[in-house]
Amino acid sequence: MLDATVRLNGAVDDGLAMPRLGFGVWQVPPDVVKESVSTALSVGYRSIDTAAVYGNESGTGEAIRDSGVPREEIFLTTKLWNNRHGDLAPGAFERSLDRLGVDYLDLYLIHWPCPAADDYVATWEQLLELQRGDQVRAVGVSNFTIEHLQRLIAETGMVPAVNQVELHPWFPQAELRAFHAEHGIATEAWSPLGQGQGLLDDPNLVSTAERLGRTPAQVVLRWHLEIGNVVIPKSVTASRIAENFAVFDFELDDTARSTIAGMDRKERIGPDPAGFNLDSPAAEPA
Ligand code: NAD
Repeated sequence: MLDATVRLNGAVDDGLAMPRLGFGVWQVPPDVVKESVSTALSVGYRSIDTAAVYGNESGTGEAIRDSGVPREEIFLTTKLWNNRHGDLAPGAFERSLDRLGVDYLDLYLIHWPCPAADDYVATWEQLLELQRGDQVRAVGVSNFTIEHLQRLIAETGMVPAVNQVELHPWFPQAELRAFHAEHGIATEAWSPLGQGQGLLDDPNLVSTAERLGRTPAQVVLRWHLEIGNVVIPKSVTASRIAENFAVFDFELDDTARSTIAGMDRKERIGPDPAGFNLDSPAAEPA
């Protein structure tokens, strides 16, 4: 039996449980996001992942408010954009709460370390300070490498509750997952389906899914859950939103596991965090 939630450690209120299957809204346009999040909540998702830079926090918050699902039953994550590091973080946090129309977040993440600016430790200290208040239950990071995590822990003594990173069968991140396990950091996989096309068309994956009577997306999501990840697949198509949620009632077998192990390309789809220092002026509305 797979656990539906993970207990967060580190910089977190005691006993905070995070759903292991959530719904991501990157690239979901502001005028579509309300419908997508509403569909996800009606299907049963109870964790929503957005970010200031996605430009869709307002519609996400509206869907949550109109859903009829009590706020305390929803695990809500947003992220601090790269141009709001350091002492700009508390203001950016407040503006995210305003746009979402909520009075607290479950999880707030530093979106990227942006190592060239060398301010991710100072930014982490700002998030720790926020977590000591009553407006955010857990704080963590995204796109941090082992080196970045080691530095946070060494310089502040505080371990992020979560590291949200690119992770899918093409890029399974075994070394980083082992580091997370050693330090009690929850591994959250972004682009868990490898962004869909291509990865989900892999012929071996397709035949494995047919044999198991499932879809390729379901097999990949089940793989994530079985290796201990939190996942946040995205779709704007109602049938896929439902399909991606129906992954708790079957198991992979050894053949399926070795098929997925054989897909490792050791290659990212997205940017390498060690060299990613984007500062987009349009990223976070003032
Ligand atoms: P994903 O791996 O979830 O793939 C989404 C795409 O896969 C969809 O657009 C659709 O084309 C396809 N798809 C979805 N369900 C399908 C199904 N059942 N069958 C066939 N195709 C299907 O990619 P993503 O959106 O990049 O990642 C998920 C979430 O992770 C994002 O929405 C966002 O919340 C988060 N994310 C975070 C970061 C970060 O830097 N922290 C970066 C990227 C994404």
